[in-house]
Amino acid sequence: MEHEGRRLLVTGGAGFIGRNFVEEVLGSDATARVLVLDKLTYAGNPANVEAFRQDPRFEFVKGDICDTDLVGELLGRGFDVVVNFAAETHVDRSIGDPGSFVKTDVYGTYVLLEAVKKNPGCRFLQVSTDEVYGEVLGDPVTEDAPLMPRNPYSASKAGADRLAYSYWTTYEVPVCITRCSNNYGPYQYPEKLIPLFATNAIQKREMPVYGSGKNVRDWIHVSDHARALHSLVECDCFDGEVYNVAGQNEKSVLEIADHILSSLGMSTDQLTFVKDRPGHDRRYAINDEKLRRKTGWRPEVAFADGIRDTVAWYQDHAAWWEPIKSGEFWDYYSRNYGI
Ligand code: NAD
Repeated sequence: MEHEGRRLLVTGGAGFIGRNFVEEVLGSDATARVLVLDKLTYAGNPANVEAFRQDPRFEFVKGDICDTDLVGELLGRGFDVVVNFAAETHVDRSIGDPGSFVKTDVYGTYVLLEAVKKNPGCRFLQVSTDEVYGEVLGDPVTEDAPLMPRNPYSASKAGADRLAYSYWTTYEVPVCITRCSNNYGPYQYPEKLIPLFATNAIQKREMPVYGSGKNVRDWIHVSDHARALHSLVECDCFDGEVYNVAGQNEKSVLEIADHILSSLGMSTDQLTFVKDRPGHDRRYAINDEKLRRKTGWRPEVAFADGIRDTVAWYQDHAAWWEPIKSGEFWDYYSRNYGI
């Protein structure tokens, strides 16, 4: 008998990480089938899934995870796992418009969990973030560290993270929660640090640095994050556990800028220091030994190679990002950075 492949419903699959996750799944599992549900907000982009359109294993539905009827109808078609990437994701925007973050990130996750609860056999992977721990100034934290989110984005993500856990403890919905550090790579919306700096530098524009530029994040290539998530799906790790996913590449904003400028052979004259954003966490740092022990996953992309290739990708794909960087994008940009 022919092997029935895994059926995945991937929310937010027209965004940055979701798109790269779909590529990982379809590229490494010939029997898998993927349905992407995406609202196509300003951050979602049909071009991101264009490469999969001809693949009979792929289907795209435009819609909102807050739409109970639509989500119920889709889940009724029968899925083995829902992987929830759909979210409002930009910390800066969450400061001006927290409501949309609470709505999608918390309420939308509730709608998905309810639908999964009604479909026994379906599992739920919540793609959370290391930002839920809040600022970490000491040793990298493990999964049992307190959650102390300090901006509306990370607070909404913490709400969804714990809501997913509660569906495991209360209703025995099979749930897995991952908390990954900052991703970089192809197809990232150019308001985020690395694609913003890379594309601004390519356009010979200023690179806006908040405060001193000494804030530190751990950086992971998106393909390594995608493989980590896939490894958890493959090992059927849906027993309410949380897994940190780290790149073990701590870099300050100034170090990131240096990498990008040197990849392009440019000088630091491009940097413009702007007023720091409120509640700007100085550092995030996570320990991901638990995931490494559980699935044997390891990151494969060395930061120096990954950042060089990423800058080259943005150089080669101006046709992807130039249309995004127009109109509303620049209105938001000048409001946000005051430049
Ligand atoms: P992104 O902003 O690039 O993509 C988000 C996608 O979700 C978009 O395609 C958007 O259209 C879609 N979406 C938004 N609201 C929706 C709704 N109501 N219904 C359906 N679709 C909706 O974000 P990303 O960087 O790819 O992040 C994906 C997930 O990973 C998010 O949950 C984020 O919190 C998490 N995460 C991101 C990072 C990072 O460094 N980018 C790190 C850790 C965790």
